[in-house]
Amino acid sequence: MQALLEYLGSKTNETIRTLDELVRIPTQVPPGENYEKAMDYAASKLKDLDFKVEKLIMPRVLFEKKNPRLKHLSGERANICATRNFDADKILLINTHLDVVPASASWSVPPFECTEKDGRIFGRGVADSKGGVAALFTVLSAIDELDIKPGYNLNIALTTDEEMGPYSGLCYLADLGKLKADYFLSMDGDSDDITIASNGNVDWQIDVFGKSYHSGSSFLGVNAIEKSVPVMNGLLELKAQVEKRRSKVPASMAISQNAGIDTLMPVLNITMINGGVKQNIVPDICTLKGDRRYIPEEKFSDVCKEMNDAMSMVKDKHPDIDLKMSCDDIYAPMLTDMKHPWVQEVKRVADEVTGRDVRCAGAQGSLDVAYAVKVTGLPACCFGIGRRMESNAHADDENIRVEDMVMFTKFLGKLLTN
Ligand SMILES: [Zn+2]
Repeated sequence: MQALLEYLGSKTNETIRTLDELVRIPTQVPPGENYEKAMDYAASKLKDLDFKVEKLIMPRVLFEKKNPRLKHLSGERANICATRNFDADKILLINTHLDVVPASASWSVPPFECTEKDGRIFGRGVADSKGGVAALFTVLSAIDELDIKPGYNLNIALTTDEEMGPYSGLCYLADLGKLKADYFLSMDGDSDDITIASNGNVDWQIDVFGKSYHSGSSFLGVNAIEKSVPVMNGLLELKAQVEKRRSKVPASMAISQNAGIDTLMPVLNITMINGGVKQNIVPDICTLKGDRRYIPEEKFSDVCKEMNDAMSMVKDKHPDIDLKMSCDDIYAPMLTDMKHPWVQEVKRVADEVTGRDVRCAGAQGSLDVAYAVKVTGLPACCFGIGRRMESNAHADDENIRVEDMVMFTKFLGKLLTN
C-alpha cells in the first residue's frame, strides 16, 4: 500500500497530462459530436492495461425514440465497457461520463485545454467529470506497473449524454446488461459528500385551451392565458403542500449549509409558459411546463395522482376551464442504504484520504445513475473529484484543486487495493 501511495504521489504531472488530453477532445453536448474520439482515446489506454474493451454505440433509432427532444443532435452516441478479471471474488463497476456542457465566451482561460494556476487546474469537464477518469487511468497503470492485485474484478463503464439525458449511454448499457457487478462506484459527483440517494424527476405539461378572437371583442373569445391563472394558483397551492414534506435522507452539505435544509425535500416548479401570437389576438392555447422532483419515499404514480387531483379541484371551482395534463417519468429516485457494507467501505476510504468525516447524503437533482441502479439493483454511491461550491461545474472557469486530484487518486488506489 505504501509503495502504491508513493508511486501515485509521484504521478501527479502524468495525471494532469492525461486530463489535458481528455479536455482537448471537445465532447460538449449539444451536440456531442466527438464522443467516438474520446471513447477511442479511453479504450486505447484501457487496452494497454489488458482490459477487454467493448465499444457500444447507441443505435440512432433508439436514441431518437428515447430522447424525442434530441433528434436534432448529430454524432454517434458512443460508450465503452472495459472489463478485467483479477481473480477476485467480487466485481466493482466504476462509471462516469465523458460528455461535458458547452463553454461560454466569458472564460478567463481557454476552456478546451488544461491551464494550471494558483494550485488549480482549469478546463471544461475537469470536475464534471473527466478528472475522475484521468485519476482512474493513473491508478490502473500504477496497479499494473507495481503488479498489485486489486480486491475486485473491474467493470469500467465510460458513457456519454449524461448532460443531456434522459436516456444516456449509462441507461443504454444498463438495458444491454453490460453493468454486471456486485458494487457500483460512480465518479460523477463531488468530494463534499458521498451521494447515496437522489430525487426522482417528473416532467409535466398542462395545455389550457381557449378560443381565439379579435381582441377588440375579446368577450366573444376565450383567453387561454387568462384561464391559466387559476391553473397556476392551483399548482402553487399544491407546491406549498408538497414542499412541506421531508425525506429521511440527509441533504448535501452545500444545501444544508447554504439553505438550512437538512434532509432531501421534494419540489414542484412551473418553469415554462408559452401562449399567444400577437397583442390583438385572443390566445387559444397556453402551455405550462415544469418539473416535480420527488423524494425516495414518494412514488411516481402518487406524484401523478396528486397533480391530477389538484387539476380536478381547479376544474370543480372553474367548470369553464378546459385543460389537458401529462406527466413523464424522467428519472426514478435512488436510495442505497447508508449502512450497506459497500457504502461503509467507500466512506471509510473517503474519510481516510480527506481527513474528515465525509457524510452520506442525497442529491436534490436527478441522476442517470438512478436509472442504472433501478435496472441492476446494485448498491451504489457517487464520490467525485470537485467541490460543489468552488469547482464551477456547468459554469465559467470550471476547475479542481491539484491537491484534490491527488486525494482522488489515493481514494481510488486505496479503494481498489484494500
Ligand atoms: Zn456529471
